[in-house]
Amino acid sequence: MGSQAWGKYRLSNTEPVTEIVSFEPATGAELWRGPAGDVDAIVERARNAWPDWASRPLANRIELCRRFANEVLKAQDQFAELIARENGKPLWEARTEVETVMGKVDISVTAYAERTGQKKFDSALQGTAAVRHKPHGVMAVLGPYNFPAHLPNGHIIPALIAGNTVVFKPSEKTPAVGEFLIGCFHRAGVPSDVIQLLVGGPEEGKALVAHRDINGVLFTGSAQAGIAINKRLAGNPGKILALEMGGNNPIVVLDTPKINDAAALIVQSAFTSAGQRCTAARRLVVVDSMYDAIIDEVKNLADRIVFDEPFANPAPFMGCVIDNNAADQLMESFLYLLSHGGKAIKHMQRPDNDKPFLSPGLIDVTAMKERPDVELFGPLLQVIRVPDFEAAIAEANYTRFGLSASLIGGSPQDYNKFWANVRAGIVNWNRPTNGASSKAPFGGLGLSGNHRPAAYYAADYCAYPVASTEMDQPRASIGVGLREERRRTRRSAHDDEATQSGGAG
Ligand code: NAD
Repeated sequence: MGSQAWGKYRLSNTEPVTEIVSFEPATGAELWRGPAGDVDAIVERARNAWPDWASRPLANRIELCRRFANEVLKAQDQFAELIARENGKPLWEARTEVETVMGKVDISVTAYAERTGQKKFDSALQGTAAVRHKPHGVMAVLGPYNFPAHLPNGHIIPALIAGNTVVFKPSEKTPAVGEFLIGCFHRAGVPSDVIQLLVGGPEEGKALVAHRDINGVLFTGSAQAGIAINKRLAGNPGKILALEMGGNNPIVVLDTPKINDAAALIVQSAFTSAGQRCTAARRLVVVDSMYDAIIDEVKNLADRIVFDEPFANPAPFMGCVIDNNAADQLMESFLYLLSHGGKAIKHMQRPDNDKPFLSPGLIDVTAMKERPDVELFGPLLQVIRVPDFEAAIAEANYTRFGLSASLIGGSPQDYNKFWANVRAGIVNWNRPTNGASSKAPFGGLGLSGNHRPAAYYAADYCAYPVASTEMDQPRASIGVGLREERRRTRRSAHDDEATQSGGAG
């Protein structure tokens, strides 16, 4: 089932064609099937469509994006159901994803104006200095499965507004959502070649990234794939590359009397979306004085978490992970931690081995000699006990990633210190590590990103700045370093000829 979400099949008696098949993780039922797209043909169409799209007035591109939001609104129930089915997240969560998709348009319009709009500096003698932005051309957008609509859309809308055409390759695990998203753009009147769907897996992703007619790659996914893309483009400095990758995010607990609230924030951070958020807390770092009270309450809450199918009634807190392969790997990781010095606080369990449902797991890894610095993308929280705040900060930074970090409890001075010393692109106080605002930049350091944050700052990588100085007439003189001018009367070529012939005669 879902563990084999893509593969090679031979269709009819012609060439082998890659076919993509997606399954509902919660039930194992096949949901979608279709052949992989033709990268060359799709990129060529995007390239040909670009000049017209880029030369349209900004207001026209914005209007079409607004109509897109309206198309999503009209289909919001159907869209949310499809996301829930193909991803396995609860319906209530899929609905919030659809709302975020619609909200992206207004935010991107404001961000475009604020971050990449026009600026002019008038100067009577020097003319006008202007800074304007131009689109790059054809952008490849590569999406992950965990927010199959919202995250690629967070690249697509700013790219379209800025005047780029887009080839969008959804995750091979969520092609149906990708197709639905693109359908909304087309129904809104965005020309079909301006935003196109490329169905495919990593092979099509690699071909797209390397295609010579692609001007930029906007990627959201794992560090492993992001690094591969970064290497592939190392010899192409002309292609803009935005990498939004994973995290091994810490949530640090200092002294606080509000144990229940602290535990709720920890549980939200670690287990929302079954831990399948890039910003999910992976490591709970607790000072000694708080350990017993916090762990007790987190365990108590985690024990009460309902995980179930997306449409179950009453609504579950979380659904399943994306497929059986992911569930297998997470169970293996849990066992690895256990067999290397970890102490289970709450075993991660898989009630049905044929389905990717996992219960939340909690494991104390303080005694482990070497803790693997990897992203365990599921409902598994590692706990580390530390003697004091200094040790907590050191532990929080003990990672190659740098996406999000939260401090729970402590004083404003503690938070200042945490903010200043923790290396991450999102640093919060008494808030979860996840649930970031689209009105802020969203990105990380180290293995989490390449300093091109998305969300509000997506505008920055969708257009490049052009500096100009301009005057309506040529006006210039040279003030220094010229010999004194020898006045000479202007004579016509005819006079010269006359003089020359006169002299000769
Ligand atoms: P993934 O890296 O497996 O795949 C992402 C996309 O890249 C897919 O479309 C895939 O087909 C494509 N791809 C894979 N290898 C490629 C290659 N070598 N060249 C070109 N394309 C390639 O990611 P996933 O498993 O779908 O998503 C989960 C990951 O995404 C997690 O690591 C999570 O932390 C991360 N993520 C990051 C953010 C963020 O904004 N920082 C947000 C959500 C998810």
